[in-house]
Amino acid sequence: MKAEIIAVGSELLTPDRVDTNSLFLTAELNRLGIEVTRKTVVGDDLGDLRNAFDQAMQRVELVIASGGLGPTEDDRTREAVADLLGRKLARDPAVMAKIEARFRQIGRTMSEVNARQAMVPEGADVLNNDRGTAPGLWLESRGRVVVLLPGPPHELKAMFGAQVEHRIAKLSSGVRLLARELRVAGMGESDVDQRIAPIYTRHSNVQTTILTAPGEIQVHLRAWTTDAPAAEAVLQQIQESIVLTLGEAVFTTRGESMEEVVARELTMHQATIATAESCTGGLLAERLTRISGSSAYFLGGVVSYSNTLKSAWVDVPAEIIDTRGAVSAEVAVALADGIRRRTGATLGVGITGVAGPTGGTPEKPVGTVHVAIADASGSKERMVRYPGERDRIRWQASQTALDLVRRYFLYAAQPKPSAKG
Ligand code: ATP
Ligand code: MG
Repeated sequence: MKAEIIAVGSELLTPDRVDTNSLFLTAELNRLGIEVTRKTVVGDDLGDLRNAFDQAMQRVELVIASGGLGPTEDDRTREAVADLLGRKLARDPAVMAKIEARFRQIGRTMSEVNARQAMVPEGADVLNNDRGTAPGLWLESRGRVVVLLPGPPHELKAMFGAQVEHRIAKLSSGVRLLARELRVAGMGESDVDQRIAPIYTRHSNVQTTILTAPGEIQVHLRAWTTDAPAAEAVLQQIQESIVLTLGEAVFTTRGESMEEVVARELTMHQATIATAESCTGGLLAERLTRISGSSAYFLGGVVSYSNTLKSAWVDVPAEIIDTRGAVSAEVAVALADGIRRRTGATLGVGITGVAGPTGGTPEKPVGTVHVAIADASGSKERMVRYPGERDRIRWQASQTALDLVRRYFLYAAQPKPSAKG
């Protein structure tokens, strides 16, 4: 089954407000096995609204709209739909009583405009609103279902969960969406695509989408199916082929973030980590501590931005900075090793680079970053040159550092089973 979402509200066509309701609705519909094939944002114009519903109902069996059910003149969704379906609007006494009761409960008197919200198209089912006054509506017409929900996100979510979800579940008759998400670090989008296209193009019943995000490429596999075990097997086969082809560049097959993967490795190996950052300004430490439970492995970090503090805090020899420059492999390694010694962590990580837009030189242009990790037996360093803006460069530098930590554990001895058994 396919659905479309219509987000109603002129404010959603300004730079100030964004339609987030459709993200929630899409996630819920997908979970119920319903594919969302189109989303429309429409202003509060009666004609535009009518057209939007008309067209959506020609294309799909389920149309869900949010917004425009309020009491004011610009709330016209119910009017537009009633008009389109040729249903008369009539004041529903039960709804009227509920709205009055709600106003009494919050100690206000109901104004005449609120009566608009009690107007119900004939044949519609009223969906109670526990969080506000505007009720939702469920309409069926010519084999199509139209659901009208209020715009405020907390009202919409509560109403969906309590009154819409179970009704829609009945419509979608056993279809499920199965999805996998692989994430890849250290490779470009076209490179990834070129290598895995021969795999995914063999399976036309699986939708494959390749997305770029800063520092990673995401491969989404989706299958709509009534035969879950068969589809799972196909997805598993595609996933295994992709991992085989891309190798260790794949850092998760479960859609995890890089910091989640690194956190798991550190925890599993009972290792600790400390950071000494320059151009990333603490971003690496921030990402490592995003995860609850990070105190088990993250000891701490410094932002040693000035050369003086690189030496004073992390023992980077001043002569290395003088001879090699602050942005150099040697300084990255000295930062990693220095913070490791100072803190006693299993692993130290150092980052130094030119985030720009100023400060670049012909030998070290903007985007040049050196990342290093050090353990008790040695160090590993990587030089990278990222295109783009300051924020992006900083993010990618932190991503490369995390990726270096992740790859370190690929070759580390497998963790011993805990003595506690
Ligand atoms: P109300 O009774 O509050 O007027 P309504 O159903 O008429 O409810 P709208 O007036 O369209 O809803 O929107 C109310 C508020 O809900 C908006 O100011 C906006 O902040 C939020 N909202 C509306 N639509 C969306 C959307 N698609 N995504 C996120 N927020 C939304
Ligand atoms: Mg409104």
